[in-house]
Amino acid sequence: MNKYQILEAFCKESNVELVAVSKTKPNSAILELYDQGQRIFGENRVQELDEKHKALPKDIAWHMIGHLQTNKVKYIAPYVNMIHSGERKSLLKEINKEAIKNERFIDVLLQIKIAKEESKFGWNTEELMSLLDNGTKTAYPNINYRGVMGMATFTDDKEQVKSEFDQLKAVYDLLKSKYFEDQIDFDTISMGMSGDYKLAVESGSTMIRVGSLLFGARS
Ligand SMILES: *Cc1c(COP(=O)(O)O)cnc(C)c1O
Repeated sequence: MNKYQILEAFCKESNVELVAVSKTKPNSAILELYDQGQRIFGENRVQELDEKHKALPKDIAWHMIGHLQTNKVKYIAPYVNMIHSGERKSLLKEINKEAIKNERFIDVLLQIKIAKEESKFGWNTEELMSLLDNGTKTAYPNINYRGVMGMATFTDDKEQVKSEFDQLKAVYDLLKSKYFEDQIDFDTISMGMSGDYKLAVESGSTMIRVGSLLFGARS
């Protein structure tokens, strides 16, 4: 078995979805996995995502996993399958606006800040809950909230990473019970990358985002 087949088998067995993170990688590398059956690919830059979407098969489900500028939402809104980086109110508002323009719903994950590092994007849970308490959920009717996303601190300390993943799972459980109990497809916990996906799955991840392990290191 090759690397993809091994990971794919692991995902199937663990009941986890695999987002193949193809950022910086050429279309030929994407097609290699596509030909083996992979359909979900993740990108973190709008322009690159747009070019790949235009050039590659139309049944690819494109996931936007990176920081998203408000003024760029319009480019991906017609086709993006899921946005993992729903991490501020102005962005949610814009995604909703563009979803309406395109007469569709857009699946969005609420990106939660779990890492200790200052640089990581994402909601502080209390702030998010206060927005949800104040009607943000119903204010953006064309957003389909699908769950949460988070990135652990970049460290070799497995216990720290594990505890951050556990924290994200706890935030998901809390949001689910308080705001999305009646919504069956608020079912996604996007956590785990090449170096930590096994820990993430132990903590309850339902979707892993794996790049370098599949495609080789990025330069
Ligand atoms: C690049 C990236 C990944 C994949 O990272 P690898 O370590 O290459 O697996 C996952 N999630 C996000 C948000 C990324 O930007």
